[in-house]
Amino acid sequence: MNLAQSLLAACERHPELESFPGLTFGELLPRIRRIAGGLDAEPGSRVAVVLDNRLETALLYWAAQWAGVVFVPLSWRLSEEELDYCVTDCGAALVLRDGDALPDGPEHPGALSRGDGETSLMLYTSGTTGRPKGVPRSHRADRAGGWSQALQHGYQWGDRTLGVMPLYHTMGIHSLLAMHLVGGCFVPQARWDPDDALRLIEEQRITSLYLAPTLFHDLVARLDGSGRDVSSVRALGYAGAAMTSTMVRRCAEAFAPEVFVNHYGSTEIYTFTIGREQLRKPGCAGRPAVNTRLRLTEDGEICVHLSSEEAFSSYWQRPDADAKAIADGWYHTGDTGHLDDEGDLWIDGRVDDMIISGGENIHPLEVEDVLASHPGVHEVAVIGAADDRWGQRVVAVVVGDASAEALDAHCLASPLARFKRPREYRYVDALPRSASGKILRRVLRETDAASG
Ligand code: AMP
Repeated sequence: MNLAQSLLAACERHPELESFPGLTFGELLPRIRRIAGGLDAEPGSRVAVVLDNRLETALLYWAAQWAGVVFVPLSWRLSEEELDYCVTDCGAALVLRDGDALPDGPEHPGALSRGDGETSLMLYTSGTTGRPKGVPRSHRADRAGGWSQALQHGYQWGDRTLGVMPLYHTMGIHSLLAMHLVGGCFVPQARWDPDDALRLIEEQRITSLYLAPTLFHDLVARLDGSGRDVSSVRALGYAGAAMTSTMVRRCAEAFAPEVFVNHYGSTEIYTFTIGREQLRKPGCAGRPAVNTRLRLTEDGEICVHLSSEEAFSSYWQRPDADAKAIADGWYHTGDTGHLDDEGDLWIDGRVDDMIISGGENIHPLEVEDVLASHPGVHEVAVIGAADDRWGQRVVAVVVGDASAEALDAHCLASPLARFKRPREYRYVDALPRSASGKILRRVLRETDAASG
């Protein structure tokens, strides 16, 4: 079943239920038809959007599905250069940005017979080279991801979720998908603001929260003394990065959830594993998910079989990336992990040195490139340091006499996306290097962990 059919079925099944605040599924369909009618794009062509999480963005997503057009949501946090790269790479027929009016036209009949193996969505993810890679997602794979989330996060009929994880990220899209399947309401929040999120939870009687750990950190920090009633929340899920055991405990105290899962996955294959017992085993990634077969290589890399219903099949026009990530039908995640004596998975780190800060991927080389171009920098290495709020924060270890202020200004004046800037600068006399001259980031990280 493609996503146009799936939406139609949902609207026929429960027209009286709320799909978004103040908009029932019955009222949703004619709106989607008109937006789709106004989308001047052929089936299969790409429509890129750079939008925050407003209702309009979610409507556009559905309109694209209705019209059989590939939705390409791009992060508003990317620099103009990165956005240009993605828009060109996907060959977008149309680009919509904040401030543009929603398309409007005669009611579109719906691309109901489009094959469910066709691409419905393309997300961009940063690979090991730092150049974003397009991940084409089929109707079938994304719908399967929606079901798997509904089941494994314990969603119930008519659930209500906070729609704040970006719709340019797999978590945001699957929250939207899961809601239409269970007759649920997606409550959009344009951009993250913990006080406003608490207000929405209370006023909209949110039942499930699926957020990156950073956002849970902010929510729990603002809840105390806010007077907000969050007792409607029944199910918690986190993904994108590991959660510390302190945060797991604080979330459990704040929300007393019936269900609390760690969802480990990626853009390429939505769900790898689900850690169901966060209270007993905080941070544990648990067991393979319903669609997943998993194995560890000899050096501990986590691999997931591409037979998953939720899996992509290859990157967009990147045979180099395919060759690196896929072998014999197994997707190599780039994460390392181990199984404990109960057979549950724990994630240890990255095979490469990618930093994940606030759920966003940051490649040290790209940041080092910019810093190294400053005349006052002799040598530089960028690492991720453990951080309660961000999971990891970007730290630059510098040999040279450029001040932290000067380097921050230098980053701001460069094409580097703002969120990739180092949050901390450390100065050393020399960087540890291997015999072949490679910077030993591992040694820097170990020194950091030992001193922290
Ligand atoms: P992305 O495709 O941007 O969502 O990034 C996927 C990567 O994020 C994974 O390969 C992991 O490195 C990391 N990740 C995702 N979920 C988790 C989790 N629950 N715990 C730890 N790391 C995670």
